[in-house]
Amino acid sequence: MKITDIKLGMLRVPLKTPFKTALRTVNTIEDIIVMVETDTGHVGYGEAPATAVITGDIHGSIIEAIRTVIKPKLIGQDISDLNHIVRLIQGCIMKNYSAKAAVEIAVYDLFAQLYKAPLYKVLGGGVPKITTDITISVDYIDKMVADSLQAIDRGFETLKVKVGKDIGVDIERVKAIYAAVEGKALIRLDANQGWTAKEAVYALHKLEDAGVRLELVEQPVKAYDLEGLKYITERVHTPVMADESSFGPREVIDLIKMRAADIINIKLMKTGGIANAIKIADICSFYDMQCMIGCMLEGSVSVAAAVHVAVAKSDVITKIDLDGPSLCLFDPVKSSVKFHDADITIEDAPGLGITAIEGLEMLPGN
Ligand code: MG
Repeated sequence: MKITDIKLGMLRVPLKTPFKTALRTVNTIEDIIVMVETDTGHVGYGEAPATAVITGDIHGSIIEAIRTVIKPKLIGQDISDLNHIVRLIQGCIMKNYSAKAAVEIAVYDLFAQLYKAPLYKVLGGGVPKITTDITISVDYIDKMVADSLQAIDRGFETLKVKVGKDIGVDIERVKAIYAAVEGKALIRLDANQGWTAKEAVYALHKLEDAGVRLELVEQPVKAYDLEGLKYITERVHTPVMADESSFGPREVIDLIKMRAADIINIKLMKTGGIANAIKIADICSFYDMQCMIGCMLEGSVSVAAAVHVAVAKSDVITKIDLDGPSLCLFDPVKSSVKFHDADITIEDAPGLGITAIEGLEMLPGN
């Protein structure tokens, strides 16, 4: 099974409600879809969103990186040489993690198709059923409480609450949501770099003293501020998770050595794909640290890949934040990964099991 071509498309899916964090507001998922074609007729699928404020990747950079740098390296490569192809993808261009992730996901899809097994089985197996949280966007307090109760009605038992706007209002937001959902749902806080280290310690002490129990607090300070992250981790009881501070295995090793965080959030768009995500899971497992697996605003091609990784590494990836598809108005991707609100399952099919992507617009220049 040799790679003959790489084609690109654009997938647009409207969101049910605008996605609002301390960094941005988004109304529609707009992702690049990668199709890696082979001489046997098998096609592998990958996906990458533009996430300018986090990874620095935008549609134009993803398209150019794939077409002018990654694709020429991969044409003619044999899918059975997976590790060699991964090294080619990871080594041919600095950064550009989302472009690398999209292509690498498609290559892993093909590798599993080659052996006629679901991807998670090729990655080591597991129970093909996981449960995700759902994002509650940052908004007026009453709206956030209403959104939280609506999510519980849909069966979600864990809420990922976005804060990081104004410290005083943030504390009131969390207290109000906690009072409304206590005993019905766990709360994860994501500040998306919106606080200073001292603000975070102040806010978390206020919440802890008020009896608010949080499962974790995610990325309270700026991505580069590892000292700030460590300052918070040392001073609060609530577990601290690194998201934007942690991209690849190197950052994870630094965070572990510094004891700057308690949990690592793995995202394929930060690691550059599946190979480094697995390395991070193995590093964390070795140090008895837990991981979350998350996603950007991604559709159910790349999120499906993250689901397979989560199933295969469920001993260390104990927290699932793969709500991209459930934030969408509809799911145009037909695959063996089934998203039913909080419940995600994988049916038996080779690779990612993608059979159709409705409304996919092929990009000019393929
Ligand atoms: Mg986050």
